[in-house]
Amino acid sequence: MPYKLSGVQPEFLVKIHNLHLECESNGLKILTYCGVRTVNEQNKIYRQSRSTNFILTKASNLEITLGYRFGEALLRIGPQKNGPRVTNAAGGQSWHNYGYAADSVPIVNGKLIWDTKHPRNMELWQLFGKCVREVGLYWAGDWEGDLVEYAHCQYFEGKVRDVYDEEQRIAKAKW
Ligand SMILES: [Zn+2]
Repeated sequence: MPYKLSGVQPEFLVKIHNLHLECESNGLKILTYCGVRTVNEQNKIYRQSRSTNFILTKASNLEITLGYRFGEALLRIGPQKNGPRVTNAAGGQSWHNYGYAADSVPIVNGKLIWDTKHPRNMELWQLFGKCVREVGLYWAGDWEGDLVEYAHCQYFEGKVRDVYDEEQRIAKAKW
């Protein structure tokens, strides 16, 4: 099965495997292209689209909500080359950083279907979302506003800070 999932949590890996089977039985082919993203990798892509002033504010916010280590990590990674805005989550805020999230994309005739606008493509994404729910995972296609992310699914429904305390966040994060 062609998906990159080294380092994801074993109980989540089982669910992703079930997700692939569920999609298959619904006639939907998918590629899971991202599993673990470390805190440092997350911070790099977070910083690439944001100003230093914004980052300073965000780092103090992270210190309060996640703990000192996370604010410090966002600052320590340093300025990044400008790039597109690809995430709303700083390091430590995403379940990818703990091995409990994965991103997948539908495949039709060997082509990856990234588009979410065309109704025919949207049907594929909705079918994907249904399969995600079916195996007991949570789909970010169900989220609201700019949090919607059709490719993303995760093991827990809540945010990291609602599920893990600071000690767990530090211990379980992949740095
Ligand atoms: Zn994701």
